[in-house]
Amino acid sequence: MAATILDGNKIAGEIRAEVAAEVVALTAAGIRPGLAVVLVGNNPASEIYVRGKVQSCEQVGIYSEKHTPPETVSTDSLLRLVAELNQRDEIDGILVQLPLPSQVDSKRVLMAVDPGKDVDGFHPVNAGLLSTQRPGLVPCTPAGIIEILKRSQIPIAGQEAVVVGRSDIVGKPTAMLLINANATVTVGHSKTRDLAGVCRRADILVAAIGRAGMITRDFVKPGATVIDVGTNKVTDRAEFERLYAGNAKREESFRTKGSTLAGDVHTEVAQVAGALTPVPGGVGPLTIAMLMANTVRAAKLRRGASGGIVAA
Ligand code: NDP
Repeated sequence: MAATILDGNKIAGEIRAEVAAEVVALTAAGIRPGLAVVLVGNNPASEIYVRGKVQSCEQVGIYSEKHTPPETVSTDSLLRLVAELNQRDEIDGILVQLPLPSQVDSKRVLMAVDPGKDVDGFHPVNAGLLSTQRPGLVPCTPAGIIEILKRSQIPIAGQEAVVVGRSDIVGKPTAMLLINANATVTVGHSKTRDLAGVCRRADILVAAIGRAGMITRDFVKPGATVIDVGTNKVTDRAEFERLYAGNAKREESFRTKGSTLAGDVHTEVAQVAGALTPVPGGVGPLTIAMLMANTVRAAKLRRGASGGIVAA
């Protein structure tokens, strides 16, 4: 039987509606949540991401402002901007869009963001709060993965979960959230022996690798839930054929655009898994929705209230 497709757009829509209702209530109480986005230079992909984030703020009623320092900006100048945003009371969330140009010390800039306004959840203070199960700001993509599971009524407690990928922004925080939700968690990476065998133990398999179609059917236990975080641009015809041979819709878009967006999970997994997130339209939409939820959460946490939607 083919896997149930977990519709990220639908779940993200539900979350946005809930966030919008929270914004209405907060605004009525005199608090309008605000997000400042820092976009350095003219990276086309970053510009698209930031546009999506600003538009999403407008949809849910969050105040937003965009700061666009030039590509040549210095670390000191960015640190001054972050310090100014840290001070401003109407700004609840600060998001520094990555990557930053090579002359900028990205770690210093991210460390300078007030942890209470760190809506990306990347600051070590927030990583520490997550790992000790205290209220803080959780990275958006991992938080979105948990929302997909919970809102799809997929049990987590007591389940075997395998996360492939151990990055600070996706793999590790996802593993931590799954532990906090009482799963039994294994984290795989490039040095894991018999990765396919490890993955086959999983009731919940999260692929956050960055390699198109690497997770094939022999990695997946029949009936497992598979969450595909990967976003890989496929431009090579042979690679396209390996992943999407016979898929007319993909073929059309590959021919017109010269590329297609592929997840880390091979399409054949749909024949084995119980449930599966698509790419696009799975985890991706949740990332922006959770940024909105985090901004509202930051607005509340800074004022001493409890945090709203995001799982901690
Ligand atoms: P990183 O490159 O930081 O981490 C990749 C991880 O995958 C590493 O831990 C690496 O292992 C592991 N890995 C790489 N190759 C293999 C392999 N052959 N076998 C086993 N493990 C391997 O990537 P990110 O965590 O930042 O992102 C992962 C993917 O998720 C990317 O495709 C990215 O585009 C996507 N993404 C999607 C988002 C969304 O909103 N949908 C948001 C963020 C990311 P090791 O540590 O040993 O090197």
